[in-house]
Amino acid sequence: MSRRAGIIGHPVTHSLSPVFQAAAFLHCGFDVQYERWDTPAAALEDRVRSLRDANVLGANVTIPHKEAVIRWLDELGGQSSRVGAVNTIVNREGRLFGFNTDGPGFIAALRNEAAFEPPGKAILLLGAGGAARGIAFALAEANAARIGIWNRTVERAQALRDDVAGTGADVTLAQAQVRGYDCVVNCTSVGMTGTGTEAEVPCDFSGAGRGLLAVDIVYKPAETSFLRAASEGGLRTLGGLPMLIYQGALSFELWTGVPAPVDVMFEAARLQLKEGTR
Ligand code: NAP
Repeated sequence: MSRRAGIIGHPVTHSLSPVFQAAAFLHCGFDVQYERWDTPAAALEDRVRSLRDANVLGANVTIPHKEAVIRWLDELGGQSSRVGAVNTIVNREGRLFGFNTDGPGFIAALRNEAAFEPPGKAILLLGAGGAARGIAFALAEANAARIGIWNRTVERAQALRDDVAGTGADVTLAQAQVRGYDCVVNCTSVGMTGTGTEAEVPCDFSGAGRGLLAVDIVYKPAETSFLRAASEGGLRTLGGLPMLIYQGALSFELWTGVPAPVDVMFEAARLQLKEGTR
């Protein structure tokens, strides 16, 4: 019997997940259809309930439902209850387990694609939204030495600082200024195609140390103004696609129990992004 998985969000038309998850299932010989489950808020409870069916492996969850789905799940795993957001649901014999693979996916991208190890490092996060929350908790768990948080809305940065400080991590409010940091991560939507902020750079790169790594989690366009400014300043950069692939790879492993074919997933996503820009 063919099984099903999918992405729950609103909208989900432009999500890349169906492309690279389908490629992964096919490559590993699983008979699984990965579908786009566009779900307005009013239909979310029914959608989550439908995941309990025996032929459903689980789901990914994206904007705007990562927080809202939690109330209908049976158990939360990993850091998802601390983060307060779930991006992966696993159906285990009718019980629904929620996980958040955004933060661990980010750490895997740092390690595997930029050879950057968080222990002992000072990291500046720009943004305090859902993605920044997952990343901040994952950096704390990965023993980053110091985490600075800047956000346009200061109250949100303060709330995230207070929550992450509860883990014992050294976390402070910061300016959008990279001096003294080993890594800066753009976790805002600034620079993303279609936001009207494509030309903006959300931090000041002056005073950057030569070894600074600049990471953007925005993956459309592949080279944001933030990444361009960093490379023009001679800095190392990492775009948003690796985090997207590794969070999806961790979801795949939670559903199937087998290692995800990361190279196949990268290839499928890159092809789709290339076709989308034609
Ligand atoms: P979110 O919860 O809506 O948070 C948005 C963040 O962007 C907030 O910190 C917000 O600041 C800030 N922001 C928005 N417009 C701004 C502006 N004009 N100037 C300065 N700051 C601005 O969204 P999210 O889920 O965290 O996602 C953030 C971005 O990350 C999106 O572009 C998303 O596509 C991307 N993302 C990528 C991955 C990946 O796997 N690569 C995963 C998740 C998300 P305020 O609090 O002041 O509004």
